[in-house]
Amino acid sequence: MLSPRIFQVVKKPDVAVVGILFTIVAILAGAKSVHYLFFHTMAELFAIVVSLSIFILTWTSNRYLTNGYLIVLGGAYGAIGVVDIFHTLTFKGMNLFPGVSTNYPTQFWLTARYLEAAALLCAPLFISKKPNFFSISAGFAAIAAGTCVAVMYQWFPDTFIDGVGLTPFKVYSEYVIIAMLMVGFILLYRRKHHFEPKTFFLLVTSLWLAVAMEFCFTRYAGFYDFTNELGHYFRFLSVALAFIAIVLSGVRQPLELIFRELDEHQRKLDVANENLTRSETNLKKQINLLSTLLKNLPIGVFMVEAPSGKPLVVNDTATRLLGRGILPDATKQNLAEVYQTYKAGSRDPYPPEEMPIVLGMSGVTSHVDDLVVEKPDGTKSLLEIFGSPVKDDQGRVWASLVNFADITQRKQAELELARSKNRYQGILHNMMDAYWRVDANGRIVEANQAICQMHGYSKEELLQMSISDFELIESAEDTHKHLEAIMREGHDAFESQHRCRDGGIIDVEISASLAFDAPGNIDAFHRNITERKRMENQIREMAFHDSLTKLPNRRLLNDRLTQAMAASKRSGFYGALIFLDLDKFKPVNDNHGHEVGDLLLIEAADRLKACVREMDTVARFGGDEFVVMISELVADKDDSTAQARNVAEKIRMALSEPYCLTIKHDGKADTTVTHGCTASIGVALFVNQVASPDEVLKWADKAMYQAKDSGRNTFRIYGEELPETFVNSASAAIDCVAGKSHDEV
Ligand code: GH3
Ligand code: MG
Repeated sequence: MLSPRIFQVVKKPDVAVVGILFTIVAILAGAKSVHYLFFHTMAELFAIVVSLSIFILTWTSNRYLTNGYLIVLGGAYGAIGVVDIFHTLTFKGMNLFPGVSTNYPTQFWLTARYLEAAALLCAPLFISKKPNFFSISAGFAAIAAGTCVAVMYQWFPDTFIDGVGLTPFKVYSEYVIIAMLMVGFILLYRRKHHFEPKTFFLLVTSLWLAVAMEFCFTRYAGFYDFTNELGHYFRFLSVALAFIAIVLSGVRQPLELIFRELDEHQRKLDVANENLTRSETNLKKQINLLSTLLKNLPIGVFMVEAPSGKPLVVNDTATRLLGRGILPDATKQNLAEVYQTYKAGSRDPYPPEEMPIVLGMSGVTSHVDDLVVEKPDGTKSLLEIFGSPVKDDQGRVWASLVNFADITQRKQAELELARSKNRYQGILHNMMDAYWRVDANGRIVEANQAICQMHGYSKEELLQMSISDFELIESAEDTHKHLEAIMREGHDAFESQHRCRDGGIIDVEISASLAFDAPGNIDAFHRNITERKRMENQIREMAFHDSLTKLPNRRLLNDRLTQAMAASKRSGFYGALIFLDLDKFKPVNDNHGHEVGDLLLIEAADRLKACVREMDTVARFGGDEFVVMISELVADKDDSTAQARNVAEKIRMALSEPYCLTIKHDGKADTTVTHGCTASIGVALFVNQVASPDEVLKWADKAMYQAKDSGRNTFRIYGEELPETFVNSASAAIDCVAGKSHDEV
């Protein structure tokens, strides 16, 4: 049943202990050779001493014992030892107590063994608990005392009868005790993991020795038998091994543990010392770093004792900013005494009683940016001071850490900036051009007076609006492109159209750029160019149109003719140029006045426009000459010629109708003049840029003169001699056809 581990332990016996045990056994054997009573007394005394030692040892070391098994054993051995004393003193031959029979020592013996067996049986149940040593001791002592009283009064069953020997009660009791020990062993073995291997080995051996002892005591017939003697050897060894087990667990192992812990603590202490040394080195480095930092800080730093104001630490910048190394020198003076200080903008000095507040010595962090110090050399500096109170563990202010900077230049720059800002705001506000700022979402965030006047909104209204609120939908796409360009290039200039509050549309010329002081915002300036646009349009109109008839003039005609010829080259379709000159127009002027002549020219122009399509061009070439350009006829020359001929005839007929011209007179009734006038018409066809615009015009002009020469009120096609009959038949055909489109004719 013993595990190999136990045998491993057996292989390493403690030679000294074994030597002592065998020496004692040898002494007992020697005592036996003298007299059995001497042997018994010695054996019992050894066992009693060991039992009581177990008790005392457990008493003194129970707080180190973590194993409840040993505490129960220790508590029980006190009572067992005392009962064994009674057994020894009443043993046969001692004759200390007259009248005491040999039954007594056996009864005491049995009591002690029952107690021992009970202890070994119960102890495994307390292994993982920590029972109270004194309660255990008191329990066993009470049982022992009760049993001893029972023996003294002979209430205890007989165990030994002289002349008869051991009683059955005694023998069976030994078997019961053996059984209890076996159960105790089983319980112990199941919990062996709670013990050090050596302790477990000692306890198991002790238990088996107790079992062996009990067997011996079932055997003897007389007190001086060999089995009785052998039983006492086992008994001594059993108690001695239990004692060693308790010494190991309660004294040696705790001591080893203590030394191990001491070693561990020492090791930790070494590590801690090492860390401390490293920390000290780091701390020194950090102090050096801080000192260097403090020395080179661009701001002045000093620490003053509160409330005396005595300087404790001062960095170089502080000394430099304050003019000389006064702070270290002036150890008995405070800053207010050393320097004449003023509040900015005032000749009144800072009252000395305010200095603790300014320097943060009052317990509250201070910030002052209007402290003017006048240095001994007469120069003044404006200082910004931050004072932080330094408190001790009780929260009392014992010093103040002050950092300060000379903000004279900064303040001057801020002042200058504020002035510039005001100037710039004034310019923006009063400028003629509109100014507005939009954020990244197109919302207006700034607007000047000019934009309010230009668009008719108040500034408050504009600040609630987005750019899209006054921008025409048609220009929104353009504006979006310009915004992208601004984001990309930084600026852009473009024209747009805005809708004003009254619904009016104004043309604006915008110059916009990214706001330098507000990322994502755009600053825009614009001016109203509606009038300029109108003038430009008018000039353009005048440059390309005849002022009397509003028809395109010769320049515009040339452009369009050039474009039409280019288109003809692409499409292969013919175009026609119809050149006409009014017949005998000069007499109108001569007879009715120039004004009537103008009216006739206007009427002729209207009639000409009525004869052609929207896409065709009717131009006044000069004087009483007009040119009609018809583009996109057909690809076939004959068909194109036929269509041009029809249009020419249609024109001829339209112009030959009588002119009924109404003349307006200021303050007088209108007068009406009816005049007959015809036109001579020359037609030239063009295709594929075979000739220049000038050449084509010359062809048409030439054909027109042919018509003039043919008697006027007729038309001629350049390069074609027409029989007279055609003119008449064509006229007849046109008479029958209504509508403007020559294609339909
Ligand atoms: P013809 O049949 O040969 O063309 O004879 P005509 O009288 O029409 O003579 P011509 O074409 O040479 O003269 C055109 C006249 O038109 C000359 C000029 O007095 C007149 N005229 C030119 N420009 C204007 C104008 O703007 N207004 C008016 N009322 N007359 C103009
Ligand atoms: Mg004429």
